[in-house]
Amino acid sequence: MFAQRLQRVRNQMESQGVDVLLLSVGSDLPWLAGYEAMGLERLTMLVVPQDGDAHLVIPGLETARVTPQPDIFDIVAWDETENPIQKVVDLAGPNVSTAAIGDHTLSMFTVRLLDAMPAVQFRNASEVMSPLRSVKTADEIESLRKAAHAADRVIGRIQSGELAVLGRTEADVSAEIGRQLVDEGHYKKNFAIVASGPNAASPHHHADDTVITAGQNVLFDIGGTMRDDLGVGYCSDITRNIWLGQPPAEFTDMYAVLHQAQQTQVAAAVVGASCESVDRVGRKIIADAGFGEYFVHRTGHGIGVEAHEHPYIVEGNADVLTAGHAFSVEPGIYIPGKWGARLEDIVVATDDGPDVLATSDHALAVLQI
Ligand code: ZN
Ligand code: ZN
Ligand code: ZN
Repeated sequence: MFAQRLQRVRNQMESQGVDVLLLSVGSDLPWLAGYEAMGLERLTMLVVPQDGDAHLVIPGLETARVTPQPDIFDIVAWDETENPIQKVVDLAGPNVSTAAIGDHTLSMFTVRLLDAMPAVQFRNASEVMSPLRSVKTADEIESLRKAAHAADRVIGRIQSGELAVLGRTEADVSAEIGRQLVDEGHYKKNFAIVASGPNAASPHHHADDTVITAGQNVLFDIGGTMRDDLGVGYCSDITRNIWLGQPPAEFTDMYAVLHQAQQTQVAAAVVGASCESVDRVGRKIIADAGFGEYFVHRTGHGIGVEAHEHPYIVEGNADVLTAGHAFSVEPGIYIPGKWGARLEDIVVATDDGPDVLATSDHALAVLQI
């Protein structure tokens, strides 16, 4: 499978006039070669000439972590007294005019490469990689579905009240959710937002020592990364909401608007629709109900090896959805100082319509106390 990906990358490089691809920390390298570089002061970099063998330049002490993939790359270990930048330059070859470098490469290495290759034009590797990574294969969609279902099981326990939250701190509940994400098969938790009452008016509230009390909403936005058979990680991401006690009509009315907006957006996420059109249909419903100023972020983000990647579901992105695009649809309404709610699913655009990976109930879960 990595060999197929490498071939697709080379084709993409050729069509874009990129002579060498340089990948270090970030998600491109694990997607392409099954190895994740550590963000250290010692350089790890995969050097992929458009024509010519790929090499993984890596600190000698880390070679033990690498699963050899002889049909993908050769390993070039460097020891503590060597200059890895020079190795990259040599492996890139003499006839490079355009290089694409991984977007998350540490600038301490990028700056040295720019100095060492003064005649080379540098671009972001995402120009090469995003068109490939954003369109998921059938295997990748199943990996995303497995991760989504694992997160669903944790959400289910929150919605049923089995994972009790009343009287506990947000941070305590968040830590338990993180453990459950791992117990359900993720190898790591990425985030477990627990935001109660007015804290839910901040979309990325950090779970803190706020005690969760009765008569309040609580927003849960949770996700982790699950490894597939080849060791490449795929992310889950879901948001649901509960109310502890009897919710006031003012909240359930607002929630009904949000729910309708989200369902309309999911239905609009069909092959051929523009990303911004999906954003618009939900934003209009929320605005028409008088909450327009309280929907303060884009509708969604692509998801895959990275929790946030292309395509972005946002006004101004006229890119068209194609079969295999996987992304979140997560409108929210946030009333400062009062409360907030968001509903999030991961959706895959397919030729048979939107494929919603999550199975969790979208309704506001009302928990008796
Ligand atoms: Zn976010
Ligand atoms: Zn989320
Ligand atoms: Zn998300």
